[in-house]
Amino acid sequence: MNVLVCAACGRRLSPPLRLLPELPERPEYDGQDGARQAPSTVPRGRYAVDPEPSGPPYVPHPDPEWMGAAYPGTVMLDPDGPGCLTSAGPSGTFVVHPADARGFLNPNPDVRWAGCCSVPEGDGPDRVCAGCGVGVASQLDSCTGPYETHFLPDAVRVVPA
Ligand SMILES: [Zn+2]
Repeated sequence: MNVLVCAACGRRLSPPLRLLPELPERPEYDGQDGARQAPSTVPRGRYAVDPEPSGPPYVPHPDPEWMGAAYPGTVMLDPDGPGCLTSAGPSGTFVVHPADARGFLNPNPDVRWAGCCSVPEGDGPDRVCAGCGVGVASQLDSCTGPYETHFLPDAVRVVPA
């Protein structure tokens, strides 16, 4: 078992977690239990490494017809162009169940979401370390989309629990 700690201040940012061999397939939104999002991709007490880019910055996808079929729920229409935006964020993020990150993170006051499925205003990840305020994670929780908290590989360290 490992815990994620803030690279800046050393504060613990997760409960003890066991690494999964790969990121599980993203479950589809099922509307169960009144949930707004799909079930969490990663179960409680586990974490996985996402090989794909995730989180901000978001850039226009080169194909204006692309609607992000491979990554449902995270597609954002480009307010300045004909197509959609796609993530140009870091790959290799550590993905956890958002409930496992609760209490360890605060919302980033510099990032504002106008509404679900919109483009965030402001720079940087939308979750900060509750100890030092450094941006450490992005949360995917748009309506009917994936439900995941992504810790930035450069902002956290993985240490034995
Ligand atoms: Zn910190």
